[in-house]
Amino acid sequence: MKKSASTPRGKLIIFTAPSGAGKTTIVRHLLKRFPEQLAFSISATTREKRPHEVDGKDYYFMDKKTFQDKIKSGDFAEWEEVYRQQWYGTLNAEIERLWREGKTILFDIDVKGASRLKNKYKERALVVFVAPPSIEELERRLSRRKTETRSSLLKRIQRAIRELEYREKFDRVLVNDDLDVAFSEAEQIVHHFIQNQNSEEE
Ligand code: 5GP
Repeated sequence: MKKSASTPRGKLIIFTAPSGAGKTTIVRHLLKRFPEQLAFSISATTREKRPHEVDGKDYYFMDKKTFQDKIKSGDFAEWEEVYRQQWYGTLNAEIERLWREGKTILFDIDVKGASRLKNKYKERALVVFVAPPSIEELERRLSRRKTETRSSLLKRIQRAIRELEYREKFDRVLVNDDLDVAFSEAEQIVHHFIQNQNSEEE
């Protein structure tokens, strides 16, 4: 399909991690810290909306049929059945929308999606893997969050164990033990990447 020649191309910073490693908290912090430069990539998903979530802000919630149609039309930059019968994906239109606003795009996605975007966008993309200090700590955090049933918690832990094996494949690993330390390391990583971007453009 022919792409509009006028869509400017920017950069992507992708935070990925096992569920409960704290990447969402870090991503939220970065959006507050760099409001001019960064914007959040809102993913499409077929999972149920949680009570506090807003459609079009946290996710684009859609039914499975709509999601499948978009896969067939080639509308996704990447998509994944992250949990059984729960699909998540990044729409090409979302990336283009944020690049048109002149933003560096911040992602909160699973490890396979992160690999796909890295393969696709190469040096335009920086992948930061957020690692929990241990699986035991991850389990404590997920239990405290109270969004999971016992079986969905177990699913998330099993997936985390698999995902931790991928960590060395990414550009940076950020161990989230002390949140303030993780915030400041994340800020430095983002600052550095944005600076490089500016000097490349000069
Ligand atoms: P949650 O259901 O807790 O919001 O997200 C579950 C998992 O799906 C998280 O690891 C989250 O990062 C991942 N995820 C969210 N959006 C996307 C996406 O667009 N693509 C992929 N591959 N994973 C996503």
